[in-house]
Amino acid sequence: MEFETLAVQGFIDLKKQNNSVSMPIYANTAYSFDSVQYAVDLFDLKTAGDIYSRLTNPSNEMIEKRIAALEGGVGALAASSGMSAILIAILNLAGAGDEVVTSSKIYGGTYNLFSKTLKQVGINVNFINSDNLEDYENAINNKTKCLFIETIGNPRIKVADIEGLANLAHKYGIPLIVDNTVATPYLCRPIEFGADIIVHSTTKYLSGHGNAMGGIIVDSGKFDWSQNDKFKMFTTPDESYHGIIYTEAFGNAAFIAKARAHLIRDLGCSQSPFNAYLTQLGLETLHVRMERHCENALKLAKHLESHPNINYVIYPYLESSPDYEAAKKYLKKGASSLIGFGVDGDGTKFIEALKLFIHATNLGDVRSIITYPAGTTHRQLSDKQLLEAGITNDFMRASIGLENIDDIIQDIDNAIKISRL
Ligand SMILES: *Cc1c(COP(=O)(O)O)cnc(C)c1O
Repeated sequence: MEFETLAVQGFIDLKKQNNSVSMPIYANTAYSFDSVQYAVDLFDLKTAGDIYSRLTNPSNEMIEKRIAALEGGVGALAASSGMSAILIAILNLAGAGDEVVTSSKIYGGTYNLFSKTLKQVGINVNFINSDNLEDYENAINNKTKCLFIETIGNPRIKVADIEGLANLAHKYGIPLIVDNTVATPYLCRPIEFGADIIVHSTTKYLSGHGNAMGGIIVDSGKFDWSQNDKFKMFTTPDESYHGIIYTEAFGNAAFIAKARAHLIRDLGCSQSPFNAYLTQLGLETLHVRMERHCENALKLAKHLESHPNINYVIYPYLESSPDYEAAKKYLKKGASSLIGFGVDGDGTKFIEALKLFIHATNLGDVRSIITYPAGTTHRQLSDKQLLEAGITNDFMRASIGLENIDDIIQDIDNAIKISRL
């Protein structure tokens, strides 16, 4: 099946859902066991099946299967938010004494998780303030367990060299984890460029309507966990499951099997089946929405580029963008809906003069949303950290929605005028 067909119809089994055409919401916690032996096999992970909704749920399974297929992976695990998906992905392969290498220009929430909370539990994260592969290479040592990047860095909208970073990670026998939230699998499938693990905040484009928190981890199934002795958690017995060895029991799906059997069991940050249902509704129109998000964003970016009171415009599909070549390589169908720009006027007046754009911290919603990072999401960073993250006082980040483009342009033009009064 092609992408669009999978997004709309993938994995539906009408008989299983009483012939109802729309997937029911499995608002359910526990599942009855046909026999004691069946229960024993479930608890020993010898057979696949439902025990308790902290581990599996049919509504969640629907989005897990679809998103895994859309990304080209072997399996997926839904979580309660993008942050919990990222936390599980890291804890699945790193512990106290281990290290992670990432960019300093990542989503603010991930930056906080990595710089404070992971540090508290003894995982040290190296933030690279450069796009140079050599700088990433210099930060890798024998304690490094993975590279972590974002396909399109949020909020500075930087396109990552996924292939270069995947090759680098593999040279040192470690996986590349890619946060593909802003690109979505419709615009980029990082696994095709060598990425090993994909994470998403499904809160954004995948659900698409700003109504459901959620996250997901996708396993490419391509990383060999037994190639060195860095990943013993997959290749040695897990005592909490009678000594099961994940690579032996689950083959190339060892990563995602352990994420579910071990971490979501222990951490409990499972996705609500209702949110999985909302996310599934969103997935069914993902390809159509992304096309219009990209079309509107490119039109607005071009308009802003020629506007006399705009200091700069950041959008990877502008020919003037330093990321244009990377965008053409990694984002063949469009550069998503995030635009950055600098307003030559009063930032606060600009934000407050907008009528159609909603001032909020979100992206990937059908509605146009604007964020003023220096005043909100990045407020807690020091001046040095702000500079490293590339956040200046005139910087606005907008997620362009699906409204009529002429109304969007008029709203921005009007607010620019008022910001200069
Ligand atoms: C929003 C976001 C997250 C965090 O996701 P939540 O669902 O809000 O927890 C992580 N990464 C990126 C790129 C995001 O935009």
